[in-house]
Amino acid sequence: MATRKNEQNDCFDGRQDKQQGKLKMKTMGRVSLVGGGPGDPELITLRGRDRLVEADVVIYDELAGLALLDFCPVDCARIYVGKRCGEHAAAQAGIIDLLIWHARAGRNVVRLKGGDPFIFGRGGEELTALLRAEIPCEVVPGITAAAAAAAAAGVPLTHRALSSAVVFLTGHENPDKSESSIDWASYAQLKATLCIYMGGRRMAEIAAKLIAGGMAPEMSAAVVSRASRPDQQIEFFTLASLTELNPREIKSPTLVIIGDVVRLPSQVPELASVAAVF
Ligand code: SAH
Repeated sequence: MATRKNEQNDCFDGRQDKQQGKLKMKTMGRVSLVGGGPGDPELITLRGRDRLVEADVVIYDELAGLALLDFCPVDCARIYVGKRCGEHAAAQAGIIDLLIWHARAGRNVVRLKGGDPFIFGRGGEELTALLRAEIPCEVVPGITAAAAAAAAAGVPLTHRALSSAVVFLTGHENPDKSESSIDWASYAQLKATLCIYMGGRRMAEIAAKLIAGGMAPEMSAAVVSRASRPDQQIEFFTLASLTELNPREIKSPTLVIIGDVVRLPSQVPELASVAAVF
């Protein structure tokens, strides 16, 4: 582990050496935007785990499985910045300030996120701000919820005979936007697998829009809650039955997969048994 740590620091210091000169090189820390995966601590990458093992500060929210914090050293500062702290723009600006402040104080900072930092994770905003502030930083990808939910449900997101495209969509757009940028009717026409993030509360409305846009009411949908966690739940619906879904019956976080591939576990029982692996 010691050798690995030196290698990583060399990598960061090398970048700084070119950009900032030797004086700052010794004092500047770094920020790793780490994708923690869907919740099961075994589903973080080796690189992500290494960054946690070396962290002086970890800044996390509820989507990152809390068990991942056990990889951090005992004296690592753990800073919670999740929903209880508010999700408005000021909170996001505060998180960025925090990352920059700790890195400038010479610390190895991990910004731990659920899934992948670049998929509905505000990773782009944070990375941009860090680069503008000339903080050495990197992105460590993670297993996104759609991949974990698909694995849990035994639903291959692509299939040679059924789907050659996958779309990741948010069902919960920024409420400040005046109009929805998601044209559900156009997605209804695609012969693609749709993976809907953050759609739990609006799923009935979304299903109705897809049907209105031309998608078959009998199209299959899988609602996967808490994928990869011990209390994972998987339920199969048709699009028509989704329109009657009571959001209170769904545990959060939930990922919804819609498309022809979702039929496969009912046709190939071996696929349906995959969920038992977790
Ligand atoms: N960056 C994350 C997504 C953050 S948006 C990623 O790549 O997965 C938050 C949404 O992700 C949730 O509302 C839910 O739709 C989905 N999600 C995250 N973890 C999940 C899990 N374990 N099971 C099901 N859905 C999950």
